[in-house]
Amino acid sequence: MDFDIIVLGAGMVGVSTAIALQQRGQRVALLDRRAPGEETSHGNAGLLERAAVVPYGFPRDIGSVLRIGRNRSTDVRYQPSSLLQSTPWLWRYFRASAPHRLAAAAHDMLPLISRSLDEHATLLAAANMQQLCSDDGLYEAYRTEAGFQREADNARRIAAEHGLRLQILGAAALRAAEPGLGEGFAGAVHWRDPQRVADPGALTRGYAAYFQSLGGVLLQQEATALTPDGSGWQVATVQGKLHAAQVVVAMGPWSDDMFRPLGYHIPLQAKRGYHMHYRPLGPGLQYTVADVEGGFVIAPMQRGLRIATGVELARRDAAPNYAQLEQAEALARGLFPLGERLDATPWMGSRPCLPDMRPALGAAPRHRGLWFNFGHAHHGLTLGPVCGQLLAQQICGETPFTDPTPYAPARFL
Ligand SMILES: Cc1cc2nc3c(=O)[nH]c(=O)nc-3n(C[C@H](O)[C@H](O)[C@H](O)COP(=O)(O)OP(=O)(O)OC[C@H]3O[C@@H](n4cnc5c(N)ncnc54)[C@H](O)[C@@H]3O)c2cc1C
Repeated sequence: MDFDIIVLGAGMVGVSTAIALQQRGQRVALLDRRAPGEETSHGNAGLLERAAVVPYGFPRDIGSVLRIGRNRSTDVRYQPSSLLQSTPWLWRYFRASAPHRLAAAAHDMLPLISRSLDEHATLLAAANMQQLCSDDGLYEAYRTEAGFQREADNARRIAAEHGLRLQILGAAALRAAEPGLGEGFAGAVHWRDPQRVADPGALTRGYAAYFQSLGGVLLQQEATALTPDGSGWQVATVQGKLHAAQVVVAMGPWSDDMFRPLGYHIPLQAKRGYHMHYRPLGPGLQYTVADVEGGFVIAPMQRGLRIATGVELARRDAAPNYAQLEQAEALARGLFPLGERLDATPWMGSRPCLPDMRPALGAAPRHRGLWFNFGHAHHGLTLGPVCGQLLAQQICGETPFTDPTPYAPARFL
């Protein structure tokens, strides 16, 4: 089979990229070893995070560093055996999180974040998937009065700077808005711009079905190697060989399996996370609530209430450690309406992260016809469609809607 372009990876990023290319008249094959949207794009907290205008930096205050160092927090954990290997990456991340560099990262990401909902809206309508998405925002709830006051002020400043919609709720107002919550929160910041997806894997599958309806070809095969082949590329799979003039690597946390053998040393790190579903008690939850000081998010999903954990720094393929999820569950019980567990085992996945908090999106610097679109970290569900459009514009020689230089993979050469 011959294609113009093969997109490797059918998560939200690969599916969106394949759609944007197919819409431009390219003959696209979208290849994944599983069905679309069964990995990271399935397991996340389901937020289209329009209000996330500042990337998650490495904490710089000594109190947070010491707290994380003790390795008992729910928001950030690490696997001691992986620390040595991760140190160079962590050092780059720490440096990139200095206030002026974090502000530069936020500035660079703004064109993507601010357009993210518009691109999803177009796809939601085209794929007829609007029923999965609600525009009821995100509640960031605080257990302590001090935390609440500090972050409410911070949120007001960010909202004013970026024209975001915001509501500040005290304890009573929060419980009136979300009757499923127990007593124990001092208050919450209600970001009104984010949207909530009730099944992010199903959304990715719906977009993939739309790709097929445009004439795109979906292949369920495992890619084992990627090699230059004459003027194009050969993708070796367990079933045989595929050829195309161009290839996009959009394999999320597995992208290094393809780019490393080609000689690229892009520092891709897994920030792992876990989820578990629970039967909702009583009224359940109407909205997604981030328990900020608890260090986890609880989202009402079609399957039940999903706890999505914070970050675990570990090797991508190391055995799971469910301690972080268990701790989050213990903290959540009593405050959230959680019944019994609904999944036999917790889900585990990896946020694909680059130390400068920008994705690798653009041409591979040393190979013609090879393109990258990975490293969307905490916000790949949100950013998939907008990043798919931006890459397709570059591949097809159009004027990109924003300057793509900050995301160019060449910055890691
Ligand atoms: C706990 C948690 C909560 C999160 N919450 C949010 C959120 O609320 N909002 C948000 O925007 N983002 C969130 N994220 C981040 C988001 O989920 C990711 O950034 C995003 O899903 C990455 O998408 P992707 O398409 O790059 O990768 P993936 O969805 O992982 O897709 C990569 C694909 O590549 C395929 N693949 C791998 N190797 C091969 C191979 N050899 N051959 C063929 N196929 C292969 C895989 O099967 C997979 O389908 C969260 C992440 C986690 C872990």
